[in-house]
Amino acid sequence: MAQFKTHLAGWVIAGAGVSALGIFTYELNLIQACAIFVIGSVGGLLPDLDSDSGKPLVLVFELISVLIPTLLFINFIRQEWTSPEFLICYFTFSYLFINYVVCAAIKRLTVHRGIMHSVPFALFCGGIGYLFFASSGKEIATIAGLGVLAGCLVHLVLDELSSLTLKFGFIPWLKKSSGMALKLKSNSLATNLLIYSLIIIVAIKIVFVS
Ligand SMILES: [Zn+2]
Repeated sequence: MAQFKTHLAGWVIAGAGVSALGIFTYELNLIQACAIFVIGSVGGLLPDLDSDSGKPLVLVFELISVLIPTLLFINFIRQEWTSPEFLICYFTFSYLFINYVVCAAIKRLTVHRGIMHSVPFALFCGGIGYLFFASSGKEIATIAGLGVLAGCLVHLVLDELSSLTLKFGFIPWLKKSSGMALKLKSNSLATNLLIYSLIIIVAIKIVFVS
């Protein structure tokens, strides 16, 4: 696993890169570019959802516990559920549910460097990123999806690079952990069926919302 600081730099570069792409191709305004930067950087954290401890895991759960309820809140605005009482209950319980219940379930169900460290998981996260931003229009949703995908892929590449070592001080050599991050499938057939089915479901949903 790459160092936390290396990952941090990778997320920021991925977020900033996709954000700049959005500014030049779709003329995003400052708020939109900033949102894409955040979402791209969070994408870089997502593969480490499968680690059982450490700074990245704490940070990723803190962030998604705030970001997911915020992104879903637009549905409640449409229903005009915006009273202070509703807001307090909605944000408090969403935060507690994601940060504690979902976090505990993910810790229990995943293994480190399992399917969450893989290209299909990155594609799935990119698709979810698109869907979260679908209400802002196709262009922003595309950039958001690309931002999450790029963040995840940068994370996987950094993990792969960290599995290289130098033999005799100068010959690049693969460690045992090599090939465990940038992979297309896990060893479990059920997990592979699940992740590829989820990708298909997300892809169908993207076609319907577009
Ligand atoms: Zn990792």
